[in-house]
Amino acid sequence: MRRYDALKEITEILTDELVVCNLGDPSRELYNIKDRLENFYMMGSMGLSSSIAFGLAISQPKRKIWCIDGDGSILMNLGSLSTIANNAPSNLTLIIIDNGSYGSTGDQMTYTRRKTKLEIIAQGAGFESISVIENKTEISPILKKLGWGCHLVLIKTMPGSEQVENIPLLPEEIKKRFMDLILK
Ligand SMILES: [Mg+2]
Repeated sequence: MRRYDALKEITEILTDELVVCNLGDPSRELYNIKDRLENFYMMGSMGLSSSIAFGLAISQPKRKIWCIDGDGSILMNLGSLSTIANNAPSNLTLIIIDNGSYGSTGDQMTYTRRKTKLEIIAQGAGFESISVIENKTEISPILKKLGWGCHLVLIKTMPGSEQVENIPLLPEEIKKRFMDLILK
């Protein structure tokens, strides 16, 4: 499967979860599959979607927060894994789509395609709930079963992005509609 296929599976089971999505192609793909007011699309700050999702989880304890991150992005912010695992908010699911590449800049290889194992880094960081998914059919049942808790879900995919339109929203508009939804 490719990331686009994984995102379709994830999108189909979303209800009212707040989603923070990694910048670039993942956000563009997610927007084009199904835009929701509950989606916060990163337009910059590579690597920080997990940190933003963690802050959101702490400040919105009654809502479930899903972060859709990538291997390249989490590799440049590994400290976030320790912060999340040690504080372990009960409403955060960190989904890392690991395609072994920096997909938004031309699919240059990341080190997860060589020796680095993110599931082992996550375990060392202190995550107690780690799921590794390699088949598309596993995504829906595993995510549905997880529920509340602090979970890390690693979805291994092939490299490659879907050709989709850009998100026709300014970063300020994305922030405003997301904030309006949370604070209403
Ligand atoms: Mg990647």
